[in-house]
Amino acid sequence: MNIKKLGEFALINRFSKKFAKIPKGITGIGDDCAIISKDSKTSWVVTTDLLIEDVHFITKTISPFDLGYKSLSANLSDIAAMGATPKYFFLSMSLPSNVKVSWLDDYFRGLKKLSDKHNVFLLGGDTTKSKKRISIGISAIGEADTKKIKKRSTAKAGDIICVTDYLGDSLGGLNLILKKLPIRNSDAKRLYSRHCRPEPNIKEGRFLADIDDVHAMMDVSDGIASDLNRIMEQSKVGMEIDMDSLPKSKELMSVCKKYGWNSTKIAASGGEEYCLLLTMSGRNFKRISTQFKRKFKRPLFKIGKVVSANRKLVWIKSGGSATGAPSAFKHF
Ligand code: ADP
Ligand code: MG
Repeated sequence: MNIKKLGEFALINRFSKKFAKIPKGITGIGDDCAIISKDSKTSWVVTTDLLIEDVHFITKTISPFDLGYKSLSANLSDIAAMGATPKYFFLSMSLPSNVKVSWLDDYFRGLKKLSDKHNVFLLGGDTTKSKKRISIGISAIGEADTKKIKKRSTAKAGDIICVTDYLGDSLGGLNLILKKLPIRNSDAKRLYSRHCRPEPNIKEGRFLADIDDVHAMMDVSDGIASDLNRIMEQSKVGMEIDMDSLPKSKELMSVCKKYGWNSTKIAASGGEEYCLLLTMSGRNFKRISTQFKRKFKRPLFKIGKVVSANRKLVWIKSGGSATGAPSAFKHF
């Protein structure tokens, strides 16, 4: 059997069990970051991500500046997902000899832009030659109040499920790029920038970390159709998602209308959003959502609820009838 048949997550499960015995006070494989206790009150959170040319990006369609920005964004987003503050990062690059120095300078300008924005510091890495493709591996370290860390494993039946931003803009932008459609008007430009220069929800994550009602959290990197499964697996719960309540930006709606795309499918399956997906008790939702809106100029979007049925994801259309699941991103 080859790994395509196994799939990404069965593949990880296959070896992770063999490494499950780890020292006390540490949380390993299974969440957006590993958690390592630092002292009696605080913890380090650590994450690593790999970007490969022609798998995660195409140099013809993303500028080196945006690639620098986006490569760090993916890591900072995993730190945001824990409700932590990013502090340091390490960068490993494998580069073919024909990469232009000007390309590399622009890559680092993009990387510096985001690292300066969040006050995170590059502390090391590794550089090697590659035969053909560019690969970029970034590991990042954040810090958090241990009691406030949000995990994937703590969703409770009865919770409501929310996201911190509109869904599908990034995939909308990618579709425009791949289909070579014009990116001239403001709608198309917004989708393009959401795809090429996503903003990690660090402040949003810290805001939510302070709220005890928020139970589980992760970032949207593969698209909610896939990411929801990660919370279900870790928390051993089920979920019901209301397809019609998925938040879609007016820019996505207008671009979808123009090209006849299904905006709901795009919102459900679109990855690289880097907003946060969370479950929380509904008790104080109104108050918390109002505070969130005052601070971040958009509401917390409620998209469904957590149910006790173990690992069963049901997609519901308005009116309550169940509908088919949208396709999820697959690595293999
Ligand atoms: P994310 O999308 O937030 O980076 P994933 O859901 O893809 O995380 O990964 C699930 C978990 O599996 C994470 O805890 C990650 O650290 C772990 N993981 C993925 N690949 C490997 C690997 N090759 N070795 C060890 N752990 C891995
Ligand atoms: Mg993640």
